[in-house]
Order: sequence, then structure tokens, then C-alpha cells
Amino acid sequence: MRTNPYVWLEDSLVTIHKANWYRSVQTLQSRPGAVVKLAGREVINFASNDYLGLAGDDRLIEAAIRATKDYGTGSTGSRLLSGHRELHRELECAIASLKQTEDALVFSSGYLANLGAIAALVGKRDLILADQYNHSSLKNGAILSGATVIDYAHVDIEDLQRQLVHHRQNYRRCLITTDSVFSMDGDLCPLPEILSLADQFSCMVLVDEAHATGVLGTTGAGCVEHFSCTGQPLIQMGTLSKALGSLGGYVAGSATLIDFLRNRAHSWIYTTGLSPADTAAALTAIEIINKEPQRRAKLWQNVEMLQSLITQTLPHLKLLPSESPILCLQFPSAKDVLTTAQQLKTAGIFVPAIRPPTVPTSRIRICVMATHEPSHLQQLVKEFLSIVPSPWQEEG
Ligand SMILES: *Cc1c(COP(=O)(O)O)cnc(C)c1O
Repeated sequence: MRTNPYVWLEDSLVTIHKANWYRSVQTLQSRPGAVVKLAGREVINFASNDYLGLAGDDRLIEAAIRATKDYGTGSTGSRLLSGHRELHRELECAIASLKQTEDALVFSSGYLANLGAIAALVGKRDLILADQYNHSSLKNGAILSGATVIDYAHVDIEDLQRQLVHHRQNYRRCLITTDSVFSMDGDLCPLPEILSLADQFSCMVLVDEAHATGVLGTTGAGCVEHFSCTGQPLIQMGTLSKALGSLGGYVAGSATLIDFLRNRAHSWIYTTGLSPADTAAALTAIEIINKEPQRRAKLWQNVEMLQSLITQTLPHLKLLPSESPILCLQFPSAKDVLTTAQQLKTAGIFVPAIRPPTVPTSRIRICVMATHEPSHLQQLVKEFLSIVPSPWQEEG
């Protein structure tokens, strides 16, 4: 009995198509920015995590070119072998200084930072309590660690407490993991309450600041600063690829934590160090975040303007609760959200449809940038209104 062991791939794709879950890439043909070229035409960009507009900034580009000329294109080895450069250390010090932590460690991506940190911190005898809407990298880090993983209801501090009361005493170490800004919803985790429970039940806390770094807090340090939790015992991670406009990830925390991760985080030890270009671009981004708070102020002005435009002009659409530049409009089905995103693109608005299995309910996910002009935001709302003029009929 010889059958082709790969035929199931096609069957699986058919199933994915039928569920309207099929995904494919779109080619961007310009520098990142508030307006980009997509499939040959200019569209207003609400699909990017480049909150401060730094990914296309000349200063980051120049820094990347200079670092490439000085140090080459690749770092040629893992950090512990031949891959470590002074630039990496400078970046780690800049991150620690922004976060007001003793030290920081730079990974090749945020995803790898979560995999490496979680798998190093907990194991078979331990417990992870995770917000049910956590990012994929937190979920997969938890699986990789071999610890028992229990999800608590989204931002539900009472459910977290219940789980702690029931389960904490059966495990050696406990790690609570949460996005700080939830990436597909835009709401915030209740960080002060989580830290207080962690203290009471002797748990470590890992907070994922991917969408908060450079965005939230007076100095742009993130959600931890926003909630005045700076200096409390916790593990912060984040990415260099969103507001910082580069590529890579980091963990920030105590000197002991970072020293431990340098010795135990496999996704840091056994992978090539960050390229000089990415490292230099991220370092320059942090300098700009420190020097130009007006960028963050402009971002929040835009968020407020769009929020009020949506509530005034599109009251028939359900705006999910948000305290960040991520604004989501809920749709009844994957099919509806895909059609709407396609119509918006035809109208010159680039904004993604987010569907199951990424999220439980379909939505249009709008990302506001500091570099959006008021006219961009008005245009978005105007096109929305002409494409979705009345409430959705629930599918019967
Ligand atoms: C984007 C993201 C990551 C992964 O960061 P990369 O550097 O892109 O790998 C991790 N966590 C959250 C919440 C994210 O949104």
C-alpha cells in the first residue's frame, strides 16, 4: 500500500479555503510610511506596527548603512562565539536605560525572546498562568517549556486569582504571562493587579511589551511605565520590530535574570547574533524616542481623533475596547470582514481583516501611526461609511 505521503497538504488547503481562513502575502513596493504603494497604487496604510513612523526614517536608514559598512552584513556567529559586537551591548544598555532595568538581552526576534525566556524560566514541575488572548509566541514558549499551562479568562483578575488559589501550591515555580497591549484587540492587561497577585502567591511575571514600547508611558518605556510599575520585580520583553522600526527582540530585567538567560536561553545561545544593520537601526530608534517625545504625543492625538471620528460617524459598528493605537471594528463573519477589507483596499485604504483562528471573532484591525495626517483618518472613516452604511445583519 503506497500512497503519496504529501497529498494531505492539498486537502488541508481546500479545507482552509472553505472556512475563509486562507492567507497569502501582499507586496509592498515602497518605503514603510503612512502612505505606501501596494499592487502598483498608493494606499493609506493602517496595517503597520510602525507606530512612530521610524521604519522609513532617514536616520535609521543611515545608521544601518553605516553599521553595514563598518561591520559587514552578518554577525557571522552566535553571540557567545564570534557574533558579539560592541553595538549589541550599546543597544542592550539603551534598552535597559529606557526600561529602567538593571540589564537587557537582545534576541533575533521578539518571538525568539519569548520562546527562549519562557523555556529557560520554567519546566515540568512548574505552572504557567496565561491570559487566553496571549500572543502566539507566549503560547508556544509555554508549550516548549514543558510546564503545565492554564489559561485564565482575558484580563480577568478574579479568574487569575481563582486559578492561583486552586493550583499554585501543586507546583514549584509559577510564571504569569500576558501581553501588555493585546496585539489583536488593543486593550491593556491589568498589570498592577497582576503584580500584586504575583507577590501574594510568589509568582514570576513576564509581560510582553511588543505593542507598548515607544508608545505607552511618559518616556515611551511601555505599559509598565504607564501603570507606574517601573522598578517592580518582573520580566519585560518586547520587540525591536514595531515602534522601533527594526528587527529583533529583547528581554529586560534584573542583572541576575539576564545573566541566567545568557546561559540558559537556547533561542539566544544557538542562533546568530542580530545583524549590525538591525542593531544600529534599533539603537538610533531608541535615541529618537528619547529625544522626540512629540512623536508619541502626535500618535496619541491621532488615536483620540480617530476614536471620536469612529464613535461619531460609525456608531453602527462595534469598536472593541482599546487603550492603544490598535482600534478594532468587529464583524459578524470571516467572509464579511474579508469582503470589507477588499473593498477598502479598492478605495485606497490598506487595513487588514483579522479572522479566526488568530482571534475568536472577525475584525478590521486599524493601526494608527504618528505620521498619519488628519485627512488620512477622515478618509478612512468616509470610505468605511460608504462601504458599511448600516448595521450588520446577524447571519441566521
Ligand atoms: C509582534 C509580537 C511579537 C513578536 O515579535 P517579533 O519581533 O515580530 O518576532 C511578540 N509578542 C507580541 C505581543 C507581538 O505583537
